[in-house]
Amino acid sequence: MEKKKRYTKKQRTLDIIERLKNEYPVADCTLDTKEAWKLLVSVRLAAQCTDARVNVIVKDLFAQYPGVEALAEASVEDIEKIVKPCGLGHSKARDISACMKMLRDEYQCQVPDDFDKLMKLPGVGRKSANLIMGDVFGKPAIVTDTHCIRLVNRFGLVDGIKDPKKVEMELWKLVPPEEGSDFCHRLVYHGREICTARTTPYCDRCCLNDICKKVLEKKK
Ligand code: SF4
Repeated sequence: MEKKKRYTKKQRTLDIIERLKNEYPVADCTLDTKEAWKLLVSVRLAAQCTDARVNVIVKDLFAQYPGVEALAEASVEDIEKIVKPCGLGHSKARDISACMKMLRDEYQCQVPDDFDKLMKLPGVGRKSANLIMGDVFGKPAIVTDTHCIRLVNRFGLVDGIKDPKKVEMELWKLVPPEEGSDFCHRLVYHGREICTARTTPYCDRCCLNDICKKVLEKKK
């Protein structure tokens, strides 16, 4: 009798990537800007705030301070006045100010295309550094935000791991590097529309419901 082939995590990952590609052909970041320094600012503001709100707030910020130098010269208080509606106004304003000063003083106002250098910028963590590497520089990137972490656990690509860095490390083993950035953007779309956090996920109309671990386990 022919032995049934095991459905590996790697194969499940590749299948999920392909299906999400069909479902969401455009895999864009939900933060509007593509300019590196603006994206750095936007992603800092997006902590505990919606991307939609950030996209509105940064319009004022960038109109008033149209470059790295201008923003580096602004006082923390003046930045805070504008970014306050995003929440955590003071710490975000302080990080943005320090980050712009470092870009001005050490990188001639350019954002470095190096993960370790990005990580040394004030207020920049792995998530932001990966986002910049993928979206701005087209390099391999895995952005483990809240949607990514929830979904890959439900899919069964990781098992009960919530720590963003640990999830990222697991995904590097499964996701082809050139697919990582777009895959994570698609997880955001899927997490918002179908595999939602606050409601029961809409498994009945999900394109992954025959290969998702959460559904398969229920059927056992
Ligand atoms: S089948 Fe359900 S749990 Fe699995 S990805 Fe789809 S919506 Fe989420």
